Amino acid sequence: MSGAPPPAIEIRDVAKIFRQGTGAFSAARFVRAVDGVSFAVPAGGCFGVVGESGCGKSTLARLILGLHPPSSGDILVDGRRLADMDRRERARLIQPVFQDPFSSLNPRRAIRDIVGLPLAAQGIGRAERERRVVEMLERVGLTAEMAGRLPAQLSGGQRQRVAIARALILRPRIVVCDEPTSALDVSVQAQILNLLAELRRELGLTLLFISHNLAVVEHICDEVAVMYLGRVVERAATEKLFHAAAHPYTRALLASVLTPEPGLGIPDVGLGDTYPDPANVPPGCRFHPRCPIAVERCRSETPLPRMVDGRQVECLLA
Ligand code: SF4
Repeated sequence: MSGAPPPAIEIRDVAKIFRQGTGAFSAARFVRAVDGVSFAVPAGGCFGVVGESGCGKSTLARLILGLHPPSSGDILVDGRRLADMDRRERARLIQPVFQDPFSSLNPRRAIRDIVGLPLAAQGIGRAERERRVVEMLERVGLTAEMAGRLPAQLSGGQRQRVAIARALILRPRIVVCDEPTSALDVSVQAQILNLLAELRRELGLTLLFISHNLAVVEHICDEVAVMYLGRVVERAATEKLFHAAAHPYTRALLASVLTPEPGLGIPDVGLGDTYPDPANVPPGCRFHPRCPIAVERCRSETPLPRMVDGRQVECLLA
């Protein structure tokens, strides 16, 4: 019997297929937004998922948050299937922080109600809610006085701190951060990243960090997965990935790191400006139409994930 605890979160061969176009004159299209993704994150770890807009990273985040059911595969939290938990239990274990704090916070509710809502949904009374809300606001660098304000009365960085306070108020095990700093000024981005890193250490949080911004991921994550057209094409410890990428797509992303456009995906990865249609995935290696080192067999042979020098990579030539 091994005494090792299960990973905080484990993704096992997860796929999500969306059906599009159901009109009388248009044939249905099936988009494999996430296509056989597997990885595990130990308790207290920070795992990054990067890729261009449309690669499937935000769909993956939504699957982990239980906002969509997977079409196949399993998601486990502390060894238990997410599919076997009800909404309340999932909310106690996993919470999100989204990109745009302005649109994710109800503009008509006071901060105390926004941050306290998850507590109210768990049946916790008003006095206890108020105590915990104030404690959490102070923990994320806000003040008790801000509890009575509306979101519009706060700055962008303060609103993202409110979103983090709301995510942490139930003391979840896992926080899924989907582009949490993309809508913020550069100077505020660093403060929010440092806050997340600090909270992770103090509270033993496990973070799943979805971002198009490689510099942000390098700053905060221990391990990174690179997604392309629904697949993880490379996964490695952060340092290894950033200093010796094995997949040509990862190398293209890293070459583009100097020209990030927050919120708009990665602008120029030097691979042409057309992202392939996810409903019409190329045969063979799905990256071959854009790959600068593709050879003939890449058009017909599908690369499988292999371990190469301590990292997982899907490339016939790696
Ligand atoms: Fe490029 Fe071929 Fe490797 Fe795919 S398998 S990444 S096309 S070299």
